[in-house]
Amino acid sequence: MNMACQSSDELEVLVKEARTYTKNGKVADYIPALGKANPNDLSIAIYYPDGRCISAGDIEEKITLQSISKVISLALVLMDRGQDYVFDRVGMEPTGDPFNSIIKLETIAPGKPLNPMINAGALVVTHMIKGNSVEERFQRLLSFVREMINDPTITYNEEVARSEFETAYLNRALCYFIKQHNIIEEDVEQLMDLYTKQCAIEMNCLDLSRIGMVFAMDGVDPQSGKQIMPVDVARICKTFMVTCGMYNASGEHAIKIGVPAKSGVSGGIMGTVSGKYGIGIFGPALDEKGNSSGGIKLLELLSAKYKLSLF
Ligand code: GLU
Repeated sequence: MNMACQSSDELEVLVKEARTYTKNGKVADYIPALGKANPNDLSIAIYYPDGRCISAGDIEEKITLQSISKVISLALVLMDRGQDYVFDRVGMEPTGDPFNSIIKLETIAPGKPLNPMINAGALVVTHMIKGNSVEERFQRLLSFVREMINDPTITYNEEVARSEFETAYLNRALCYFIKQHNIIEEDVEQLMDLYTKQCAIEMNCLDLSRIGMVFAMDGVDPQSGKQIMPVDVARICKTFMVTCGMYNASGEHAIKIGVPAKSGVSGGIMGTVSGKYGIGIFGPALDEKGNSSGGIKLLELLSAKYKLSLF
């Protein structure tokens, strides 16, 4: 279990400034259970390799990972299957399209999604998680998340998973399109069951920042000394965070903020500052591209103040 975070006056100032931007956003409600979030919430935690953590805002609020889980399933699948197998089935290029777009599946490389951060690519990645049943595959993914956070109690939100499972018509359409091209082989309902549970894995900002810290440390948990994922896998995941992590705002994010990060429609953002620390942000009001309005502003202020841009 992780220690409690120290509240930070410096971060509190940034949260206060960024909170005004939550008003520009709207909570996602295409997954009905996500529509219940409070649009004014905003919080941040920073987790250092020595186990220290600082935070500000509504830190106790829990978030489901949604698209942030795509980075974690990618890491697991790269370890399960190796790079050649994975990238034969999903590409490495940004799309410039919304996360749930179907168009380039037909026009660019039929049936092969362009990258693992869009829904089509993430569904292919989840399909590749090894195991004999949905339950076993999900438990493997969950154990991996628990190991990164060092907390065996992390689990998923059943209501959010069910709510998405019942309404994920577009994701089912993506799966059937890809299945027609023989990249997905399994039963689509089974894959949707696994994918919606993956997206509903739940935690707070502190937990999210610890995952970011493990990526920042090239896959090592500095407290146990354990290499949780190979350096190459951490590097590939961080690269995708830069090129495709913030939906079709990834270019703008690279220019204005320059911190490898992945966001999700629940309003979470996981950031990773190589060699330094992990960042977890939660602000459920989203801008028109699906990124947290307040969260993006907060990360921008943080990056400017502490000169965090990679570039
Ligand atoms: N579960 C969500 C979906 O597939 C994840 C999308 C996101 O966070 O961008 O629609």
